[in-house]
Amino acid sequence: MGSLRQCGSLRTPAVENAFRKVPRHLFTPPGVSPETAYRDEVVPLIPGLATVSQPSIVALMLEELGVGRGQRVLELGTASGYNAALLAELVGEPDLVYTVEIEPRLAALAGAALERAGYSGVHVRAGDGSFGYPEGAPFDRVIVTFEAGDLAAPLVEQIRAGGRYLAPFAVPGLPALLLRLDKKAPEQLAGSFVGIPVTFVPMRGEYGRRDAAGGQAEARALRAVRAAHDRAWLGEACLKLGQSMALGLVAVALAEGEPESSPEEVAVEAWERVAAAGFPDMTDLRVRVEPRQGVRQGLVLARRDYSFVLALPAGED
Ligand code: SAH
Repeated sequence: MGSLRQCGSLRTPAVENAFRKVPRHLFTPPGVSPETAYRDEVVPLIPGLATVSQPSIVALMLEELGVGRGQRVLELGTASGYNAALLAELVGEPDLVYTVEIEPRLAALAGAALERAGYSGVHVRAGDGSFGYPEGAPFDRVIVTFEAGDLAAPLVEQIRAGGRYLAPFAVPGLPALLLRLDKKAPEQLAGSFVGIPVTFVPMRGEYGRRDAAGGQAEARALRAVRAAHDRAWLGEACLKLGQSMALGLVAVALAEGEPESSPEEVAVEAWERVAAAGFPDMTDLRVRVEPRQGVRQGLVLARRDYSFVLALPAGED
């Protein structure tokens, strides 16, 4: 617990208390010793597809989610059920927690583990979490525990106005970044990236990554990010990690928005934009989510239902 506090993951007594209460060893597979269960480590459940997340990252996410007592919470990606149990402690009532897991076998195991640990009220469903859990809506908080590069319209509808969404946001060519969005009004979500780059398992299901065209776009984004980072390196800019992520994000948005430009041209433009904005950290960028049809210009990551619009601090976008 001390080390989670020291590394800055644990910040509030509420989250610390939840960590003290939930017995993690009840959520790890039978072969894992209790000693291992309490290390700050990822425990694999299905290699490459499901894990019990690393406690320091879980703590960081719960702090950023800012869960209050009595709130209705939706988790996507139940896996072991450990995070769902922490959420139950935070809201004070297991019945307010809804969680969806795409792998039916894991959903069943998580349900059993939650029951053993005293959280039988948590609603566990096997299915594609992209579509949320309509029966439990509206939710004050939605937390995603896989890398999601997209947001489905039905899920957005289930977030209460004033509610919050937190997810590891998958950006092609970059590590996933924690995206925290607040819902201001129907179809209006805005926020920023928080914390540090993270690694989670990829999203599966309807809104997961797929086809060959997606693969090509990803390769292009990766080349643009490399070119932008090479430029920073050659320019001896000594960018910090967060600044380098901001540069990468701008490069990806430009690469997607300007399919005619070469990765090198994109890199030059990305560099000029972040330089003009004073080399902001990724957490200084503003992110707005808008219905896809509405947005055409600026630093835009256009996805299936929505566009994620980035704005540099100088107001450029
Ligand atoms: N929250 C978990 C860790 C999640 S690991 C814990 O506390 O232990 C990510 C999980 O997301 C995996 O179990 C994976 O099967 C699941 N997943 C991936 N895509 C999904 C989707 N579209 N809907 C629901 N679950 C999904």
